[in-house]
Amino acid sequence: MQLSQVVCCPNCGSQAERNYIADSDQTQTQCLSCDYLLVTCAQSGKVVEAYSPGVFCHR
Ligand SMILES: [Zn+2]
Repeated sequence: MQLSQVVCCPNCGSQAERNYIADSDQTQTQCLSCDYLLVTCAQSGKVVEAYSPGVFCHR
C-alpha cells in the first residue's frame, strides 16, 4: 500500500508530494517545482537520500 500526502516543500515552499513506500519501509518526499528529494527510513526517521537543488528557487 502506498500513502500519498501533499506537503510543503522545505526547500522552495511549493507543493510537494510525500509517499510512503511499504516495500522498503521508507518515506519519500518529492517536490515537483524544484526537484527536492528526501528519502527517510519510516521506522528510525534516518535520512537515506537527500537532494536539494537550492539554487533553483533562490529567495
Ligand atoms: Zn521545492
